[in-house]
Amino acid sequence: MLSQKPLIFAQITSMHRSHTCGALRQSDVNKDVQLAGWVQRIRDKGFVLWIDLRDRYGVTQLVLDEERCDAALISKAKTLGREFVVQVNGYVIEREAKNSAIPTGDVEVLVKELTILNPAEVPPFTLKDETDGGDDLRMKYRYLDIRRNTIKDKLLFRNKVAQVIRNYLSSQDFAEIETPYLIKSTPEGARDFVVPSRMNPGQFYALPQSPQTFKQLLMVGGMDRYYQIVKCFRDEDLRADRQPEFTQIDCEMSFVEQDDILAVFEGLLQQLLQDIHGIKPTTFPRLSYADAIATYGSDKPDIRFGMHLAGLNEVAQSKGFQVFDRQEWIGGFAVEGGAAMSRKEIDSWIDWVKRPQIGAKGMVWVKCNEDGSYKSSVDKFYSQEDLAAWASACHAKKGDIILVLSGGKAQTHTQLGELRLAVAEKMGLRDPKVFAPLWVVDFPLFEQVEGEDHFHAMHHPFTAPKPAQIVQLDSSPSSVFANAYDLVLNGNEIGGGSIRIHNRKMQEKIFSLLGFSKQEAQAQFGFLMDAFRYGAPPHGGIALGFDRLVAVLDGQESIRDYIAFPKNNSGRDVMIDAPAPLDDDQLDELSLQSKT
Ligand code: ASP
Repeated sequence: MLSQKPLIFAQITSMHRSHTCGALRQSDVNKDVQLAGWVQRIRDKGFVLWIDLRDRYGVTQLVLDEERCDAALISKAKTLGREFVVQVNGYVIEREAKNSAIPTGDVEVLVKELTILNPAEVPPFTLKDETDGGDDLRMKYRYLDIRRNTIKDKLLFRNKVAQVIRNYLSSQDFAEIETPYLIKSTPEGARDFVVPSRMNPGQFYALPQSPQTFKQLLMVGGMDRYYQIVKCFRDEDLRADRQPEFTQIDCEMSFVEQDDILAVFEGLLQQLLQDIHGIKPTTFPRLSYADAIATYGSDKPDIRFGMHLAGLNEVAQSKGFQVFDRQEWIGGFAVEGGAAMSRKEIDSWIDWVKRPQIGAKGMVWVKCNEDGSYKSSVDKFYSQEDLAAWASACHAKKGDIILVLSGGKAQTHTQLGELRLAVAEKMGLRDPKVFAPLWVVDFPLFEQVEGEDHFHAMHHPFTAPKPAQIVQLDSSPSSVFANAYDLVLNGNEIGGGSIRIHNRKMQEKIFSLLGFSKQEAQAQFGFLMDAFRYGAPPHGGIALGFDRLVAVLDGQESIRDYIAFPKNNSGRDVMIDAPAPLDDDQLDELSLQSKT
């Protein structure tokens, strides 16, 4: 976890407590107080007993001893176990041995009265920052896991990020408006989760993959600026750290162009970085999709470090090395100080790129020695001058190593992009305390999917083409760029959006290029295209992946612990044991089984 400002809490009092377990300080000495919480730890020295009492706000040490407490009270305290819920009345005293590690460490509470509000069984794993509980166990008893600082702090961090977002967006006149969860199945790239309708036998709702069409309709409805921190559902094959239900900060604005949207959401991320990490706002660089791929091998580049990719066809082909002569593209990048890599280290990178997840056939390397000479795995084919040309193409200096892959152009860029990230990770260049946001812009409108006779929308079907290129839609649709943009932070795509089509004719045209017949388009999106007949303003928007944004802002890779009750890698909630079969009566009621 990155440094966090201390939690600011109001003095919480209730019928059960006068203070929280995180509130008492030296200045409270001599006060009578009432606390309630969970027993974290008991140290029983026979004549004296210390109990750590925990709640969301912290831990306070309680003390009972034979000199100052009566025997019945001490025997009662001795019956306590871990995670018992108790309430105590007592008197704040200064500690003899202070504990500077916790904010309440100067004081302890001498117990006068003890009420057991609820006993507890021994928890199935240790509820400490470092737990002995494995993933499955922690998920099954997530409510216990949440008592640990590690998870609790992450959920509170998420809450803080949400607060900053709400304040910022409402200061910019965005109205928070809910859209329905029971909607109609629409093609947005992933599979829909569907919900049977009891009242409409044989018919199904779908859960929204995003509120896309509704937010556009809110613009037609004149709402001007909308946002929602909203659950979205996608029934995709689960990859590590993907959740079937996740949260988006979904926004839409009217009467705007791309630059207006980028300015507002750059402002949002600047506000977050400032409020959470005290980082002064700077303008985010903008990189075209083509440049992102060419320079970083990724459309979500991590720009915290260099290691830019360079094409090497010109200097590496026609020199007698047939492996390279046969390839469409050869590229590499220089790793600073990498000439010091041992043979073993290099071999381990070669094995790494050959793993099926990366899929390279092999890797060529060139060491740029301190004495100005070069040593490579292809010395047989290339002279020192040849290798000097490689080094200059990759901007390699003395002491660097150049790592080179070859193959199909697109695939090799991706592979080099992955290798670049892995090498940077190993070298400690992906510092979670450094934040390097950027916009990736100028995406192609369409992508061609092998084996399909129509285009796919690169963003979604509602994205507007760049106005100057509309004329190319008929003659060369694949050369048309979209008014679409992604917000990228430290190698993560944390948001994406576009200017939308607001003209019925244009929307019909795009649907037809996407392979929809007129009837299909009307059946699926007639409601939207009809709305465009009645005065749709120019509009556009963006959605940020909230779970990912929160994790990245906290310097973490995994989103799981920022979600109170996440699903596991098979999409299951192991705590409530969902999904689960329905009984026959329910299936009948929903017309989901034949009544034979
Ligand atoms: N609805 C889009 C998505 O979920 C975001 C947008 O275009 O606003 O990716």
